Parts: sequence; C-alpha cells; structure tokens
Amino acid sequence: MKAILSCVISFLLPVALLAQKTPVLFQKVRVFDGVKVISETDVLIENGRIKEIGPNLPAGGARVVNGAGKTLLPGLIDAHVHVHGAEALEQALLFGVTTELDMMMSPRLEYELKSTDKDDRAAFFSAGFPATVPGGHGTEYGLEIPTLILPSDAEAFVESRIREGSDYIKIMYTAGVQIPRMGPRLAITLGNERPTLSKDTLAALIAAAHKNHRLAVVHIGSEEGARNAILADADGLAHLFHGSSSHRDFGEMVAEHHAFVIPTLSVLYSVCGPDSGGGKLVKDPLLAPFLSHEARSRLKEVFPSSRTNLVSCKAAPEALRQLKAAGALIVAGTDAPNPGTTYGASLHGELAMYVEDGLTPTEALVAATSAPAQAFHMPDRGRIAPGLRADLLLVNGDPDEDIKATRDIVAVYKAGVELERKHR
Ligand SMILES: [Zn+2]
Repeated sequence: MKAILSCVISFLLPVALLAQKTPVLFQKVRVFDGVKVISETDVLIENGRIKEIGPNLPAGGARVVNGAGKTLLPGLIDAHVHVHGAEALEQALLFGVTTELDMMMSPRLEYELKSTDKDDRAAFFSAGFPATVPGGHGTEYGLEIPTLILPSDAEAFVESRIREGSDYIKIMYTAGVQIPRMGPRLAITLGNERPTLSKDTLAALIAAAHKNHRLAVVHIGSEEGARNAILADADGLAHLFHGSSSHRDFGEMVAEHHAFVIPTLSVLYSVCGPDSGGGKLVKDPLLAPFLSHEARSRLKEVFPSSRTNLVSCKAAPEALRQLKAAGALIVAGTDAPNPGTTYGASLHGELAMYVEDGLTPTEALVAATSAPAQAFHMPDRGRIAPGLRADLLLVNGDPDEDIKATRDIVAVYKAGVELERKHR
C-alpha cells in the first residue's frame, strides 16, 4: 500500500509543482497594488509568490502576459461568508475571490476542507462555531452549536473554539434587534428580540479571545449593538445595521477604537429591499455565465421583510459615509450565501454598492484587498508586493475608474497557479 501511495504522489507532485514553478511576467500592465494605482509597470511571479515589480523586467524563461488595456489586482478577499462546502470555495475563486473569511461553520467541515486544499478553490479561514446564548442567533440554522450564558464561561468557551481550529472568534450579539415575523394572514410584523449575550459576557468573550491572541468579530444588527460591541473592545463588526439613521459620531467612534467594519450591504439590502442587488447580478453578462443554477436562484431571492416597509435601509449607507469620513477601516464582505447573495459574484456587487453609497472605486478596491489583510493580520496577501502570495486578478479596463470593471475577468491566479475558468 505504501509503495502504491508514494507512486501516486510522485506522479502527481511534478504536475502541481510545474504549474507553480512556471514564472509569469505581466508586461506593461496597470496595477492596483492594494493601496494605489501604478499606471504601467511589469510584475513577475515565480514559485507561487510575487517576485518583482518594476518597468522593463527581463522575461527570462517566464511566460509573458501582455498587460495592455488590463489591470492587475491582488486577489479579492470576502471577509464575511459562510462556507457550506468545496463548491463555495470553487465558485468564489471563479470570480477572483482568492480568500474567503468564514464567519460560522461546523469545525468538522472546516477541518475537512482545510486538509484537502486544491488549486481550484479559494483559500479560507474560519470562525468555526460562533459564541451565542441558548436560542440565540446562530442556533436557528439546524447546526447543533455549543452555547454559553455567563461571563465566567467565556474563557473555556473560547479555548474550546481554538482547539477546534477557529482562526478568530465570532460573537453573536443581537441587542436592539427586532425580528420581522410572519403574523396571522401572512402579514409581517416586527417581533420580540431574540435572546442574546449580556454585555458582560460579550466583554468577557472579547477579553478571552484577546488573551488567546485571536480577533473578536461581533455580529450586530442595530446601532446600539454596534456601539456596545465597540465599547466592549471588539476588533471588528461583522455587519453594518438597519434603521432610519446612524448617529453622527458613529464613524468617529469606530475610528477612535481602531475597529474595522464589514458592511455586508449585499445581505442588509436583501432584508430591507426592495431593490436588493442580487437580481442585477444575475443579469450581468460578465457574471451570469459563471453562476451555477443554484447560485442564480439564490441571487434572485430576498427576505420576506423586503416586501414591507418595516425595516429601513437608510442607516447603512449613512454609516458607511461616516466611516469613510472618519478614516475607519472598511472591510468588504457579503454574508453569502444568504438570500440575495452568492459566493464570489456578490463581492463585485458589494463593491459597486460601496461606490453608489459614496466610496471612490479605489476605496472600494482597498476594502476588498489590503484592508481585510490588515484587519485580519494576513501579511502574506491583499497587496501586490515582492514576497507576497501570487493571488492575483487580471481584468480588462480600469476598476479604479469604473468599479464594475472588476467583473471583466481575464485571469485568476491562486498562489501563482492560473485557474481554468469555465462557464457553468
Ligand atoms: Zn453571516
């Protein structure tokens, strides 16, 4: 058995290594390096890494890619998804999303996927099980998850998650959230809040995460919840919030506490609608051919509340502009695959929403590249710089001028390996 196994490995290894070892030279290409635009330069990648950036690099034995009319970007990062299987990571990569940050999945699936990484899947990190109370947010999806109530249980809870493989700690905190419910005769009303963690347990969980050198990312659903989480020392918020307005000092408060925010407008607008973004993405000829049947129907879905006036969308774009004005760290994320969203394609929609709501295209690109790398302490990606992973996205046009150019994908590279991009 051992002999057969080593034979298989020696057969497979050279092919994989060959793909990684073929250097590629992008010639005379526009580059968005994760922070700024370089109007024309060369980029050489080798052994899965970015080797050199500069004008007129010698081709040597590299395969040359003509960069005229194209822009090279760091592979995109979606900082809020739920990975339900290998297909999620495959679809993300098809759309140039080279890293997915999962915000709740079973540790068993996390382990399975991490131990079978493949070139045609986006890389991912995961929160594993989130911290929540019995009956709280996160317990309603049919996944049996551990819960806690008391601050004194926080440390043991966090340590268990880390043993299971959690890369960061996700905390569900739904204070101030009213849940839209189907009432009698199919009328939708706002019902009582779901049970949630106390402020003390929230603070104890965040402290326990920090003691164990992990980030604490908090799910919130109201401005009140967002403020409590920031005051409790959360590193980041997994969402912006619904409501009719955002208090003037919200952005400054986030910036003062050096926290980051993952707006997830894709899912928020699918709740407060009626014009959620998913339906538009299905019709985009640059995205549609790469969407599976399931992804298309997911994008066309909306939450029932979007057909009512119960939940206002106004607070989120207002808060986004406040974050921008205050210089707070905005980190792009979609919350795929919630209704109205899907892996990969929705990140392009999310970036367009940021621009519609007041960010410049370059600020939107930062939010999906160097900002998540900074927020989640991933120094090996999110920028085009020597020594970093060759996670790259090559597109036609200038996405720093027209954000929708991110969808006009020419090629996707994961750790230097070009993806074979096929229609679904
Ligand atoms: Zn989520």
